[in-house]
Amino acid sequence: MMAKALYMDDAYLKEFEATITSVKDGRYIVLDKTAFYPNGGGQPHDTGTLLRDGETFRVVFTGKFSGDISHEVDKAGLKQGDKVQGIIDWDRRYALMRYHTAAHILSGVFNKEAGALITGNQLDIAKGRIDFSLEEFDREKMAAYFEMAQAIAEKDLPIKVYYMDREEALHIPEMVKLAGVLPPAVKQLRIVDIEGFDRQADGGTHVRSTREIGKIVFTKAENKGKNNRRVYYTLRTA
Ligand SMILES: [Zn+2]
Repeated sequence: MMAKALYMDDAYLKEFEATITSVKDGRYIVLDKTAFYPNGGGQPHDTGTLLRDGETFRVVFTGKFSGDISHEVDKAGLKQGDKVQGIIDWDRRYALMRYHTAAHILSGVFNKEAGALITGNQLDIAKGRIDFSLEEFDREKMAAYFEMAQAIAEKDLPIKVYYMDREEALHIPEMVKLAGVLPPAVKQLRIVDIEGFDRQADGGTHVRSTREIGKIVFTKAENKGKNNRRVYYTLRTA
C-alpha cells in the first residue's frame, strides 16, 4: 500500500505520527504516512528527524523509489512496526515553499507575456532557477517580467490546492505550459491555483499567500543556446 503523502494536502504540517511499514538496509525507512517531501519536480527533499521512544534518527534524504517515499536516516536501529514521530526541518521546507510559489509566478508571467514554455526548474533554499523556451534573449524584458512577478506577489493572492479530472484540466490552456512534461497518467491531477493568476498541475508544496514570498530579485540570465534561456532569482524578506 502506498504511503499517504500528507504534504500534498497540508504543506504546513511540521510534525506527525506514523508507523514504519518497511526498513531496507537498516537505514531506508518507509512509513504508512509522511509529511516529508521527496526530491522531485525541481523541489529538493525535506530533512528532519524521526523520533522513537525519545531516540533521534536524522533524516538526511527523502526520495521516491518505485512509488514509495523512502526516508534515509543517519543510523540503523529502526524496525518495521515501530511507531515514530516525524518532524521536518521547517526553515528549510518553508524556504523551498516560498521559492516554489515564486517559480510559478515567474513561469506564469513569462508564459503570459512572451509565450515562453518552461523546460526545467530547480529550487534551492537560497536561489531558484528556471529554464524557458524563448526566442528572444532580452535582459530588459526579463527584468520587466520580474517587476510584474513582484507586483503579483505583493497582491496577497491566496494559493489553493485541489484535484481536478485530467481531461478537464488539459482543456485549460494555462495548464499546459510545461514543455514536453505532461502530468503523470492519472485520472485526477493535483492543481496548484494562485487565485486569479495561474493554475498548474503540480506535486509540490506552496505557501498559502503570495505575500509570504517576499521580494523576488532577478539575479542572472543565461543564454543556453537556441531558444534556451535560463534565469536565476533570489527571495528577500523585509
Ligand atoms: Zn511547481
